[in-house]
Amino acid sequence: MLKRSEEEVQALATALVEAKKQVGLCRVCFHLSAEPVCNICRNQERLKDLLCVVADPRDVIALEKTREYKGLYHVLGGVISPMDGIGPEQLNIQPLVRRVSQDKTKEVILAISPSVEGETTTLYVGQLLKPFTKVTRIAFGLPMGGDLEYADEVTLTRAMEGRREIE
Ligand SMILES: [Zn+2]
Repeated sequence: MLKRSEEEVQALATALVEAKKQVGLCRVCFHLSAEPVCNICRNQERLKDLLCVVADPRDVIALEKTREYKGLYHVLGGVISPMDGIGPEQLNIQPLVRRVSQDKTKEVILAISPSVEGETTTLYVGQLLKPFTKVTRIAFGLPMGGDLEYADEVTLTRAMEGRREIE
């Protein structure tokens, strides 16, 4: 960086600012996307009736790295955390319920990192979706407090395979 001319650095800075402006959220799944609808939602090869619910776009990236999951996603944008003033209405939960009730989703997989807040969120969302579809949650091969995004691909794949239906 220091060896580059001022113009070069300026050009790079401008490009970065432009890139940041262009990245928005997919209007269907709320994953990061430069387009109104993201690559995953537009991909015809993905299973449309399987939906994986995650807290954060970074979790989508982690799960995509496993190359095992073929369904679609829904990003909540966080977890329910009353201490931080985050209630269900601050998250993309209503759009999720609408999606599941309209799209004939066969299964929703809740893949939220294990923590007290994650658990609250899993239970809350699970109860909301149960009237519409089968709801499963990923297996806790993941340690409590362990972040989905830092789990290796084998652990994540096992967690997905070992998913079970919520009560
Ligand atoms: Zn999308």
